[in-house]
Amino acid sequence: MPEGDTIHRAAARLRPVLGGATLLRFEAPRLAGPRPRVGERIDSVVAIGKHLQVNFSGGLTLETHMRMTGSWHVVAQGQRWPKAPHLMRCALVVEGYQAVCFSAPVIRTFPTAARGTASDPIVHLGPDLVLDNGSAEADAAVVAVCVSRMRGLDPGTPIGEVLLDQRVGNGIGNVYKSDVCWIEGVDPFAPLSQIDEATRTRLIATASRLLRVNLGPGRRRTVAEGLAVYGRRNAPCRRCGAPIRKDTRGELARITYWCANCQT
Ligand SMILES: [Zn+2]
Repeated sequence: MPEGDTIHRAAARLRPVLGGATLLRFEAPRLAGPRPRVGERIDSVVAIGKHLQVNFSGGLTLETHMRMTGSWHVVAQGQRWPKAPHLMRCALVVEGYQAVCFSAPVIRTFPTAARGTASDPIVHLGPDLVLDNGSAEADAAVVAVCVSRMRGLDPGTPIGEVLLDQRVGNGIGNVYKSDVCWIEGVDPFAPLSQIDEATRTRLIATASRLLRVNLGPGRRRTVAEGLAVYGRRNAPCRRCGAPIRKDTRGELARITYWCANCQT
């Protein structure tokens, strides 16, 4: 499933193909909002947490949120699409290439000038945990903003769900949620009220560090061996040897992997 690092990688693939190119065709059967026009220039491709945005010279921003299922692909002219045509949610055709988004549940446009206002669909989002802030002080400031945003939440919310809440910070999905809780020895189902400020800070800081480490090529790793707990149901815990458990709980039935023995 896409986490913030996946979206940033997708943006890095799209950028050389779309940046500065002229839009030759635009398809988006379920688009909410106005359509960019053929002939407009594509100004930029931006990843913000789990959101990917494409800015057009006509003043529109295309916003896609991948949730669990969506993905962007670059396809050279004449090549087959990697997924079935009925899964296409958006296709941007430029000279020689198409950028195709499949299965994303959110495809919408808004005026680029509305960024940061109430019409901006991502104005409520917490800081992007994938971004390099340039210094340890700036990193700490971003983490502190995320921790302060937790204070507005229901104190009974399980900490695992808090980490997924994009109003707190942007970029953590089920993989990092599960693995970061394991790394910090925190029960992902413990209510927010039981997690002290120092632990909240460590959870966010570790998530941000891992999201950025995984921007490079190669398989996603959260520990030297690969993933700490995600996808390791019944395998021995890398810390205590107890079998890793998997559960889907909560309103959104999010998948959680954890060690019930050493995450307390
Ligand atoms: Zn364990």
